[in-house]
Amino acid sequence: MDKGITLLNVAGFTVGDTLLELSYLVSALLFVVGLKMLSHPETARRGNLWAFGGMALAMLTTILLHKDGEGKGISLTNIWIILAAIGVGAAIGWMVARRVKMTAMPQLVSLFNATGGGASMLVALLEYPAAAAGDVGSIIVTVLGLIIGSIAFSGSLIAFGKLDGRVGDIMKPFMTYINLVLMVLTFGLGAYIVASPNPPTEMGWAIYALFGLSLVYGVMFVMPIGGADMPVVISLLNSFTGIAAAMAGFIYNNQAMILGGILVGAAGMILTLLMCKAMNRSLINVIIGSFGGGVSAAGGEQGTIKEITLSDAAVLLSYSQRIVIIPGYGLAVAQAQHITQELEELLEGKDVDVKYAIHPVAGRMPGHMNVLLAEADVPYEKLVEMDDINPDMPNVDVAIVVGANDVVNPAAYNDPGSPIYGMPIIDAHLAKNIIIMKRGMGKGYAGIENELFFNDKTRMLFGDAKNSIQKLVTEIKTM
Ligand code: NDP
Repeated sequence: MDKGITLLNVAGFTVGDTLLELSYLVSALLFVVGLKMLSHPETARRGNLWAFGGMALAMLTTILLHKDGEGKGISLTNIWIILAAIGVGAAIGWMVARRVKMTAMPQLVSLFNATGGGASMLVALLEYPAAAAGDVGSIIVTVLGLIIGSIAFSGSLIAFGKLDGRVGDIMKPFMTYINLVLMVLTFGLGAYIVASPNPPTEMGWAIYALFGLSLVYGVMFVMPIGGADMPVVISLLNSFTGIAAAMAGFIYNNQAMILGGILVGAAGMILTLLMCKAMNRSLINVIIGSFGGGVSAAGGEQGTIKEITLSDAAVLLSYSQRIVIIPGYGLAVAQAQHITQELEELLEGKDVDVKYAIHPVAGRMPGHMNVLLAEADVPYEKLVEMDDINPDMPNVDVAIVVGANDVVNPAAYNDPGSPIYGMPIIDAHLAKNIIIMKRGMGKGYAGIENELFFNDKTRMLFGDAKNSIQKLVTEIKTM
């Protein structure tokens, strides 16, 4: 142990060890505070910084104060290797995060999930021989870390491929059975390794087989999941990454890793369940169902669509009392958040009450619309959650649907054959007038027709959302 601080050494616990444990406690507190702040758009940015501070503190104190079983600190060579790895990782992360388009955020989150799961997977794989020489608890956490980390790694890569349009859906019903068999085999082999009467150190073959099986299961688990269910899957994989990191924390007996992992695992699981609730589905149904995977709903006779001119739209909006703007993925594509905010202010200047209706899965990532509108300085109290705005929709003079499609599709209520049947939607169809802004008759993420476009009260304003709103603003100003 460190000679300089042996005076304060209590039962083999040095001042350095105490400081290290204390720093982990402070890190955990910073994680919790950061996580809490992430739950509100106004504080989310600062929350990220607090959590970053916690992680930086944990890394710094580990490098400076960590001692191995023989009381030796990290060697200088290893410190350089660690710093170089942190530098390379931070540089890549910085560049990718700066360049990524808002619309490609879910892909980025998936890639980050893959790296987190992959890191825990490698820790478990490398530490298995040491764990095998230890007690049964060490073997259990290592085996679990390997299984969950590998599933998070390969599953997240497939999720990335699907979101990016590089990997298609396979939704054959027999996939459910294949996946059940794979799951039983994977966890069965894990249990066999833990309970094996053979000396665990001789189980190298089984560990590699478990590694392979878990990777394959990760791929097969995500493959059949349909397009509109991807947000739930990403959040679930994020939770797996956290759990795998917690297992890696147990392997190293590192409190910061355990706590950080548990927080990510729990937050990811809560978000997963909230999103399932928002889509009115059970988690099991999401995992083994085949919802919204680009299957077309019944085409059939839909009726005719009616367009609206800019001047008619300007008059309608200016003489309304209550307007609800329903933003969707197209608003993010067009980057129309700033001009939408300008339209809102302009109408408010004419004593029109304007609110935004926020659907939990509008856009391509959880909270996508909140983030975009906060970026455009829309006051948070103007953003109304779906459940709160829906009872009010019949009193709304105009619902302006900006680049949204699936989240306002009434097929969710009245077409049992539709892949989005049962998903709660924003009740745009109940408003007195509906203006829909989109470029053409393109479908949404679930790949299905939308009967709202053919509703008698609906008028289409075709064009890129940013362009259309810009022209509308000019038109209203000239009135
Ligand atoms: P949708 O994907 O259903 O529809 C978006 C619409 O925007 C399209 O129909 C498109 O029509 C239009 N559009 C595209 N570009 C522009 C543009 N430049 N200007 C104007 N309109 C444009 O979006 P929603 O937000 O309604 O629904 C989100 C969907 O994504 C749901 O199915 C959800 O489950 C899924 N999802 C959500 C995630 C999340 O976490 N939020 C993650 C992954 C998927 P056109 O081509 O005619 O312009």
